[in-house]
Amino acid sequence: MYNIVVASHTFCKLMSFWCRLLHASLTSCHLLAGYKSFKLFINNEWHDAVSKKTFPTINPATGEVICEVVEGSKVSDVDKAVKAAKEAFRLGSPWRRMDASQRGRLLNLLADAIERDAAYLAELETLDNGKPYSVSYCIDVPMVVKCLRYYAGWADKWEGKTIPVDGDYFCYTRHEPIGVCGQIIPWNFPLLMQAWKLAPALATGNTIVMKVAEQTPLTALYVASLIKEVGFPPGVVNIIAGMGPTAGAAISSHMDIDKIAFTGSTEVGHLIQQASGSSNLKKVSLELGGKSPNIILSDANMEEAVEQAHNAIFFNQGQCCCAGSRTYVQENIYNEFVERSVERAKKRVVGDPFNLKTDHGPQVDDEQFQKILGYISSGKKEGAKLMCGGGVAADRGYFIQPTIFGEVQDDMKIAREEIFGPVMQILKFKSIEEVIERANDTKYGLAAAVFTTDVNKAHYVSNSLRAGTVWINCYNVFGVQAPFGGYKASGAGREMGEYGLEHYTEVKTVTVKIPQKNS
Ligand code: NAP
Ligand code: MG
Repeated sequence: MYNIVVASHTFCKLMSFWCRLLHASLTSCHLLAGYKSFKLFINNEWHDAVSKKTFPTINPATGEVICEVVEGSKVSDVDKAVKAAKEAFRLGSPWRRMDASQRGRLLNLLADAIERDAAYLAELETLDNGKPYSVSYCIDVPMVVKCLRYYAGWADKWEGKTIPVDGDYFCYTRHEPIGVCGQIIPWNFPLLMQAWKLAPALATGNTIVMKVAEQTPLTALYVASLIKEVGFPPGVVNIIAGMGPTAGAAISSHMDIDKIAFTGSTEVGHLIQQASGSSNLKKVSLELGGKSPNIILSDANMEEAVEQAHNAIFFNQGQCCCAGSRTYVQENIYNEFVERSVERAKKRVVGDPFNLKTDHGPQVDDEQFQKILGYISSGKKEGAKLMCGGGVAADRGYFIQPTIFGEVQDDMKIAREEIFGPVMQILKFKSIEEVIERANDTKYGLAAAVFTTDVNKAHYVSNSLRAGTVWINCYNVFGVQAPFGGYKASGAGREMGEYGLEHYTEVKTVTVKIPQKNS
């Protein structure tokens, strides 16, 4: 399992000298000098859009344009990519004839190439997304590599069954690839979300048309060049940068796409389901939003609970689908917990994401920045008590101060809606039964946590929470071997672990008549 916060702190201590040198040398020009293409990646070639359109991608730390990227659009470009993916999936194609173990080998080679270029990829990720370099380098990129290697191992081990059916028959199942998979990913973990989608789909032998988020296209396109370099056959992976309502919608309603996997907002999740229903009933898996409760019982270890609750909400500038954004604290420790949380938030270092001392970079773009500031004013208007932060943290870029609201009530907008920013809501509760009911009173069900030193209470609360992941005395611990996904409106299906293979596989039942006499 990977505790993201511990990993980040250890890295910072070890690498500080090297990092000061690195910091001095970083500029956009330096980063982009090694960049191979900003075009559409179709059939292992780089294409302009049929429309010839491009769009700018922005450095959120400054608000400046990094570069122009080719904008794949509605039907023409997506059609070209789907055609390539369909051809690569044709019976008898090199990909369909490839041994499963060789698919695993290609995934391992991709992991090797990403490890080789880890520093460069981390720099590019930080430039385009704004997350601190220490996080990109020591959390995102290593998790990408682990994900690719984990599913590389599964490629020749995803076995069917033999089944003792009644009668004189031999019955077995085969796990077969679904076909052409559409994959639409968000901007909060661009490299990691790309790996979570690519790895299980390729291990199981599918072909892919992926749309990356308009805010953060650069690392995904660099990975495309590595996919070609390590030898995936043309058409197996096709990557398009473009807008959701055009390129994204064309994928979700395409008649020749057999499955769609989406990560992003619940609103768009509804559209994806609808598009499947009104086109070809492609299979759908969804990883959507959350408003995850983090429950601190009065017997919890205070110091650990404060630290974990801090990281639960502020990690990645609050831009996590599983962020612990409703912190429920038992009444007899409430005041101390709020006081200590405020102290901790004030120590969070906000600033230049390439500075290795920085814990907290900018929000991804102006739209998210404005949206979060809107939630902060709504919290003030609805009577929550602003305990710290609440404002803009720099005179350029999209930086927001780590913000804490106390005295938050369940019906306030900031307690009900996903803010996707560095804004902590602390709510008070009396009894365990009460907090379970309040924690479950949400349309979401992605993650939850409970902090207590009583093992019985820990399991009672954990079993009562309606969420796809429950952390006990920890938060944000991700293992590539463990499934992740949501109850209720937080999604459908699970990614990661063995469960993650199911959504990329058709199960074929084969029944063979067995003669009873040797004639
Ligand atoms: P989003 O709109 O759901 O975007 C996610 C992906 O879906 C992007 O690639 C997006 O393209 C694409 N998309 C948008 N509209 C589409 C459509 N009609 N059909 C097909 N694809 C479409 O999320 P967002 O705008 O980036 O962020 C909005 C909110 O979503 C956030 O505030 C947060 O609450 C939530 N969110 C959740 C997650 C998560 O991990 N669960 C991640 C990111 C955001 P574009 O790049 O053009 O938008
Ligand atoms: Mg950007």
